[in-house]
Amino acid sequence: MRAVLYSEPLTYSIRDLADRALQPGEVRLAVLRVGVCGTDLHLHRGHFGARYPHTPGHEIVGEVAEIAHGVGGFVVGDRVVVEDGVYCGMCGACKAGKSLYCANIRALGVSLPGGTAEQLVVPAMKCYPVGPLEPDIAVLAEPLACVIHAMDRLAMPPGARVLVLGAGTAGQLLAVMARRNGAAHVTVAGSSEFKLGIAQELGADRTIAITREPGAALHAMTAAEPEGFDVVIDATGAVPMLETAIEAASVGGTILVYGVAEADKRISVSPFDIFKRELTIMGSYAQALNIGRAVTYLGTLPPTIGRLITHRFRLADYGLAIDALGSSECIKAIVVPGDR
Ligand SMILES: [Zn+2]
Ligand SMILES: [Zn+2]
Repeated sequence: MRAVLYSEPLTYSIRDLADRALQPGEVRLAVLRVGVCGTDLHLHRGHFGARYPHTPGHEIVGEVAEIAHGVGGFVVGDRVVVEDGVYCGMCGACKAGKSLYCANIRALGVSLPGGTAEQLVVPAMKCYPVGPLEPDIAVLAEPLACVIHAMDRLAMPPGARVLVLGAGTAGQLLAVMARRNGAAHVTVAGSSEFKLGIAQELGADRTIAITREPGAALHAMTAAEPEGFDVVIDATGAVPMLETAIEAASVGGTILVYGVAEADKRISVSPFDIFKRELTIMGSYAQALNIGRAVTYLGTLPPTIGRLITHRFRLADYGLAIDALGSSECIKAIVVPGDR
């Protein structure tokens, strides 16, 4: 079967790899769709603990093609989404039921072989049936699962005025989920008119076009909501935007750090401001065991959610998918390894 295989950062080829036999408890999937995201771009550049040889792809939809003897609950032809996280089960966090904080966490497509391939062998317990969900919608399950974790973290009070910074896949899904989970209204701020247009189609109440000049961004947000926003979610990971997020929050507001900043970056925050305005600054990191909820939730969303898939590539064109991530008109790029 063919797969994308990196030998070192920035260097990959499409390789024909030998099929391996199934171990007990495993299934073989024909990969139908794999989403490409910022994590893949980091891995492409050799960040995020990439190990070589490496096959990327952690947003995986597959069709069960072979089932190890004794595995129940699946038949050949079932379509599934794969939980990408692999947890040790032995550390203190795992034993406390907090898999996301596993001290030995690994993930398919990050530190383990991923799904940018024609086939993937995974433990059956990692597979979640998607029923009648179209593969083009099911491929959003992993990013949505991360957003569901963010919603759990926020535990947003009904009636919240919400601002989402960033209109990529994460920002769009965060806006949709906030709108459906108690927000009085949701404002999306971003630099791409195209992406803001999609946010409006998906139900954002207001959009704000911003430039990289943070003063102008804050001015636009303050003009839109003079008392500030009860919840500000940063889905950009950009330092100036994070600083703007804090300024744009209301008294008693919450700032959620969702976008991934580089580990050595620092922001400037006034402790007095946090004290006086009683701000809450919290993080939301990935997800664990939310894929099933994400699949269920995707089934409740209108088909327009499929507008998030803006680019589609064949396996041989993986490099074009990575390049597309930099486009102002790319929200979600996907790879279709087979012909369905
Ligand atoms: Zn991703
Ligand atoms: Zn663990």
